[in-house]
Parts: sequence; structure tokens; C-alpha cells
Amino acid sequence: AQGPGHSYRESEPQPYAPPAPLAALDARNVTAWFGDHQVLDRVSLTMPAGVITSLIGPSGCGKSTFLRILNRMHELIPSASLAGEVLLDGDDIYDASRKLTDARKSIGMVFQKPNPFPAMSIYDNVIAGLKLTGTKADRDRRDYLVETSLIKAGLWKEVKDRLRAPGGGLSGGQQQRLCIARSLAVQPRVLLMDEPCSALDPTSTRVIEETMLELVHEVTIVIVTHNMQQAQRVSTQCAFFLASQGTPGAIVEHGDTEAMFSSPIDSRTFDYVNGRF
Ligand code: ADP
Ligand code: MG
Repeated sequence: AQGPGHSYRESEPQPYAPPAPLAALDARNVTAWFGDHQVLDRVSLTMPAGVITSLIGPSGCGKSTFLRILNRMHELIPSASLAGEVLLDGDDIYDASRKLTDARKSIGMVFQKPNPFPAMSIYDNVIAGLKLTGTKADRDRRDYLVETSLIKAGLWKEVKDRLRAPGGGLSGGQQQRLCIARSLAVQPRVLLMDEPCSALDPTSTRVIEETMLELVHEVTIVIVTHNMQQAQRVSTQCAFFLASQGTPGAIVEHGDTEAMFSSPIDSRTFDYVNGRF
């Protein structure tokens, strides 16, 4: 396999296929409801391949809902409905001919609260996603995926001698990296991260940011964050979401991160990125 993400390994076991190439995610006119409560209004956003996109904005403006729509988790909520399209490299993930597990395999998700299976071993945690997505892998393949996923998640050195220990015994930051490894084991093309560092200390936060900056060479990343410094440190582009009384969530402004922080176009973006609300 080629690519910057593989430089850590001198010879890769064969004949495994290299991970799929980088993919862009494209949301078009995404509108969402819970019952008759509309929470997103025609959100369109291109999340380019090989780039970290930050979604920012106050609580309740629909960032998590938007993220769940990007990998078809929204439809698991009974009252939820939506309109619009989500294209992964041009293919609509909601196309009737596509299986739900296809979207789950290609588009992974990491949540705010690290959620490894606590009693399950570190090794089994990493490969748990294979079973959930119906991905077949023999013993060698599993070993390979566990090692490479933990390396990519920046956790391998810390756990390689205790892969059979329970995931719940790790620190919060390590558990979050274990969850990242679990997502990576199914070799997704996009990784969605919903406030992945909000529950972590500053050191763990930095480690995860560094991990993201390495990972983005092989996986497109979309992150929700309330940490404006984090958005500036990691993301190439930002989208500012806002909802107000009676108005569902929508993107006020999006574009190059530096430009958005230094010279936002909309006064509401200026106020938000400067901590005024
Ligand atoms: P954010 O992540 O930006 O804080 P959310 O996407 O979580 O925003 O929420 C957007 C809106 O949708 C809020 O008004 C919230 O109360 C509502 N909402 C979120 N999840 C559900 C749900 N499962 N059922 C009903 N309403 C929900
Ligand atoms: Mg949220």
C-alpha cells in the first residue's frame, strides 16, 4: 500500500488490499425533523477528501443531528425524518439500492463520551466493528487490523503488551483512542467525530488532535467542536451552524478556517468565534 499513512510500516502483510482512496462527502439541502419539529433547514456543505472540517455553533443548532445524518444514524431515531442528499464520492448513501451497513462501513463515528465495551478486551474492542458491519476477517487479518488500527489511533505502544486486558481499564483518553481504533478497523473513508475531546483533559486532547492530523492523510474527517482553539489547530475549513427561536439550524457561514476566524463575513460568526454567545 502507498500513502503517507503507511510510512510506519516497512513491509505490510500481503495480499491485503490497501485502504480505499480518500473520499469527499457532500451534503445537499439536508433538512431534518423530529416529529413535526424541524431542526435543520437545507444544509449544504462539501467536506473535501483528505481535509478536516469543523462544525461549530451553539448547543441545539443541529450539529449532532447533521453528523448522524452523514452516516445514516439519524434514521434509527423513531421520530426522525429527513430530506436532501448525502453523497460519498458522488454516490448517494441514501440510495434505495445501498445497504445501511455500506454507509456504516464507509463512514465511522466517534462520540463525545468514550464508549468502548468495558468488559471486552482491547483486542476484541478494536475488531468489534467488523462483526457489526458483517465484515469477514480471518485470524491473521484480525491481528493485522488490530495492530494497524491501534498504531493509527496512537495507542499501540501503550497497549501492545496487554491486548487481552479489558478496554474499561484504560484512561479516558486511551479509551477514546480505542474507540478511534475501533472505527478505523473497518477501514472507513470518512470519520465523524462528535466533540471527541470534550470529556478529556488537555493532554489527551492534544494527543487526539495529533492523531487526527496524521489520520487525515487517509481518512476524511468531520469534527464537531466547541473548542475554538481546537477548530483552528486542526481544521482546514469550518462551518458555523446557528438556530434561533422558531428558526431551524442552518449554516450561517463556511469556508477556510483562518479566514473565518480572522475576518468572518457575518457579524453573528464574529460574535460566536469571539465567545460573545
Ligand atoms: P447540537 O449537537 O448542535 O447541540 P442537536 O443536533 O443535538 O444539536 O439538536 C438539535 C435539535 O434537535 C435540538 O432542538 C434538540 O433538542 C433536538 N433533538 C436532538 N435529538 C433529538 C431526539 N432524539 N428527539 C427529539 N429532538 C431531538
Ligand atoms: Mg451535539
